[in-house]
Amino acid sequence: MTFIDYPTFSESPFFFDRRTASVPEQEEGIVRPHSAPRVAYYHPKNVGNYHYGERHPMRPHRMELTNQLVLAYGLHEKMSMHAPRKATEEELLEFHDSDYVDFLKRVTPKNAQNLTKDWTKFNVGDDCPIFYDLFSFCQQYAGASLAAARKLSSDSADIAINWSGGLHHAKKGEASGFCYVNDIVLGILELLRYHPRVLYIDIDIHHGDGVQEAFYLSNRVLTVSFHKYSADFFPGTGNLSEIGSDLGKYFSLNVPLQDGIDDESYISLFKAVMEPTITTFRPSAIVLQCGADSLGCDRLGTFNLSIAAHGECVRFIKSFNLPLLVLGGGGYRQSSVARCWAYETGVLAGVSLDNDLPVNNYYEFFAPDYQLHPPLTGKIENLNTRQSLERIRITIREKLRYLGGAPSVQMQEIPPDLMGFLASEEKGKEEKRDDEADSRRESGLKDGDLLDKEVGGLGDGTASGPLGGARRRTVRI
Ligand SMILES: [Zn+2]
Repeated sequence: MTFIDYPTFSESPFFFDRRTASVPEQEEGIVRPHSAPRVAYYHPKNVGNYHYGERHPMRPHRMELTNQLVLAYGLHEKMSMHAPRKATEEELLEFHDSDYVDFLKRVTPKNAQNLTKDWTKFNVGDDCPIFYDLFSFCQQYAGASLAAARKLSSDSADIAINWSGGLHHAKKGEASGFCYVNDIVLGILELLRYHPRVLYIDIDIHHGDGVQEAFYLSNRVLTVSFHKYSADFFPGTGNLSEIGSDLGKYFSLNVPLQDGIDDESYISLFKAVMEPTITTFRPSAIVLQCGADSLGCDRLGTFNLSIAAHGECVRFIKSFNLPLLVLGGGGYRQSSVARCWAYETGVLAGVSLDNDLPVNNYYEFFAPDYQLHPPLTGKIENLNTRQSLERIRITIREKLRYLGGAPSVQMQEIPPDLMGFLASEEKGKEEKRDDEADSRRESGLKDGDLLDKEVGGLGDGTASGPLGGARRRTVRI
């Protein structure tokens, strides 16, 4: 393992795109330009032990694989490590409806049959099964995203990572697409207590519909989602024409793609969209959802991205030197997910990782190559034409012209929010206590046995997912 000042993609032997990114001027004095960023890593203890069901593609165990790889590479020596507390019910209610949170709290595999009338209302069943200790799982990953957001808001870290978060489909009052609680919306709401504008970027292969919907009327959160878009692909939303409405008009951007997009096309489009978006919107914090189902060879995804290309998006966003909350998301080939997120942890921590995987507790999962960058690309025909990608780029540039004149983008001051500030200060103290407790124990260094928990067994379908609901459930910020 070698340490370098500034990992650049062009130095990577795994990708051929050697064009250098132009990096805009950084925002005023938030991060020191020439010192290594302070990275905080959040891994809820035992989050890898939950189980959606034998035939369900979502495997929380991938978080344990990721964490073990991160530790085996020695990345914990370059970051502060945290085992955050669970989110409280009150914290979940900052976004979610009380009857929905109450349902999540009460429902168990044993009593689920008595609550069938609520299944439709809250959209649980095949895609979102009721499994053992479901509410605790939600509290864990949401608590980690909230703690990570607070760490950034208190300026105790420049980058905060929670790979167990990023569940972007969950709605205010219902589950969707394997997601129950929307930790991203909760994290953004937390950041908005201090930050006038927050940029949300989503590179999961699925449209970030839950986050877009939550902030659809807001001009303080700009959402950008890169995803596969077709009528028969979950969640069926994310067309170019979805741009936000009311005060939020032009504050939702969508990049609809087709099967098989390759590294070069994806990265050049990503940079061509994100650079002007950041310089126009001028966020004071960024949230990046790194769903790994956009990698080649995913069980549900149909893109052709390599881990190096996926990580290049992370490196590019990091290069803007703004407070950055990095979250997980989809990803249905556990070994690829763990490799990808470990690699991206290295990118964020400024550590170059050896391509030979270190021996770790789950080494056999990485057979037969035991490499960080196995070949994942080129398996699916690329249906994105040069012309279609150029049309997307031009359309988005045009939308950004309108955005540049929006009053909220001209606003320099953080709006006064004394109550929010006081509440956050209290929570900040709590986090500090948690952090102190963390430092007394070895966060995540010991591997918990994978518990074979009781499984709800409600989901034995293919979990392809229904189309997103048409109703708008938003928070006005
Ligand atoms: Zn996804």
